[in-house]
Amino acid sequence: MLKRSFTALLLPWFDTNKRPMPWRNTRDAYAIWVSEVMLQQTQVATVIPYFERFLRRFPSVADLAAAPLHDVLVLWAGLGYYRRAKHLHKCACTVVNLYGGVFPTDAASLQELPGIGRYTAAAIASIAADQSVAVLDGNVKRVLARLLALRVDVSRPAATARLWDIAESLVPLARPGDYNQAMMELGATVCLPQSPRCDACPAQSLCRAAACGRQHDIPRKRPARVTPTMHCAAAAIRHGNRWLLVQRPNEGLWNGLWELPTIWSRPPRDTAAAQRAFCKLLAGKVEKIRPIVTLQHQLTHRRIDCTLFAGEMKASQAKAMVQASRGRWVSRADELPTSRLTAKLIAAASAALRGVK
Ligand code: SF4
Repeated sequence: MLKRSFTALLLPWFDTNKRPMPWRNTRDAYAIWVSEVMLQQTQVATVIPYFERFLRRFPSVADLAAAPLHDVLVLWAGLGYYRRAKHLHKCACTVVNLYGGVFPTDAASLQELPGIGRYTAAAIASIAADQSVAVLDGNVKRVLARLLALRVDVSRPAATARLWDIAESLVPLARPGDYNQAMMELGATVCLPQSPRCDACPAQSLCRAAACGRQHDIPRKRPARVTPTMHCAAAAIRHGNRWLLVQRPNEGLWNGLWELPTIWSRPPRDTAAAQRAFCKLLAGKVEKIRPIVTLQHQLTHRRIDCTLFAGEMKASQAKAMVQASRGRWVSRADELPTSRLTAKLIAAASAALRGVK
């Protein structure tokens, strides 16, 4: 009963109110997969230009599989959560090897692929192939918990399992892809975490939380986490109009990406200590080290406070760095796969040193 009346209210609302998004104009499983991976932890407005660039450069899964990982990471730079790009590339290679480059569209096969979980598999299968399988992300969890007035902490595994069952019981046979997108859209634009817009909600007449005025207490809030702060010092070392980048280790945060030479553990507090520390880090002579700016950078679960120093290097040292494969000189951050923090630091250094010879 709830299933039929909810769908009957939700789908016409979605048809009228859905926001235009480039991946909504296609049933290509590959394009839908790329959009779903990009949208994990990232806002729609940020994703759109990345998605369009990515599809222009890699129009098919075979194109993506054939590209070097380096090119994928360069295109991903600034989008964050770089592991997603590595999974994307690995998964594309698997699709080419196992399926000859034809992207599977049934949820069970999709879930066997590297980096594709139940949510992404269901999104692709329902949107690309009308398979009646449910999605469950943070937005859908919140909508369902409120619709049924479930005072649960949706981050708990038991609550998640229950919500998966409810989600599967509600997804219709007709237009399951639109239904899933409508659920996500409702959570993202109407049934908002802090201030649900119940007056604009197509499901208000069915919603148990709204009926008893409990929509602000449902789902149950988790205690706020304290965000840790990491301190570091980075050096913008200039040679001509180029900047020295070094590669991060292949593990941990931003693994394998390129960054300005950075001291993460016990960063120096003054110029003399920074001069010594950067010379030691680069096993070479870094000259004229001086602080230029302090920047904050917010990640999902931590904050980074970075003191940026400017420095210089003699031509012979600069050449030796490259010959020893210990660094690369770039004029722009997007020549190599870098994090958004690195791009921000290079922009700050360029602005601070503009006009300085
Ligand atoms: Fe969410 Fe309000 Fe709609 Fe209920 S009526 S689903 S609380 S927006």
